Amino acid sequence: MDAVVGMEGNGPASPDLREIGCILASDNAVALDAVMARMMGLDPGKLRFMQTAKEAGLGDFDSESIEIAGALEPIPDFKIPPLGGEANLGNPAIQSMLESKTTLLPEADPDLCTACGTCVEQCPMEALSMPEDLPVVDADLCIACFCCQEICPEKAIALR
Ligand code: SF4
Ligand code: SF4
Repeated sequence: MDAVVGMEGNGPASPDLREIGCILASDNAVALDAVMARMMGLDPGKLRFMQTAKEAGLGDFDSESIEIAGALEPIPDFKIPPLGGEANLGNPAIQSMLESKTTLLPEADPDLCTACGTCVEQCPMEALSMPEDLPVVDADLCIACFCCQEICPEKAIALR
């Protein structure tokens, strides 16, 4: 993972650049993401894409299962993107309530979208379809990975 210069804030579409100065390597991508999530101040177990990856048998985010070589310090005051309830690290009951009320989903702006179809093709969960000239998301499939927002050439996708 190239974290020499990272992104923070309203990423991945319009982030602030942040000098982190790290390169991380692992033979397991889930463990790698879990380590970086903790460095950013997040609990990887509360991120849907991490849960989905673990359920699929791709790896584990539990810290006991990850062997770390080297000093990985938390990034001070890292500005996380607007993850809604996913970023709340508090009481599990409150977490559950917040997730049901605030979970973000991608939404395309009809004034910016050119119906190029890139987001539909690239969504790893096949959660996007384009019945007419605007992509729509299946909330049951979306894992809030934000790839569609990052990849849209028109910056037409917002998280709502
Ligand atoms: S990638 Fe952007 S411009 Fe293309 S269809 Fe998706 S939202 Fe529209
Ligand atoms: S956020 Fe990820 S899973 Fe959801 S629609 Fe976009 S690319 Fe697909």
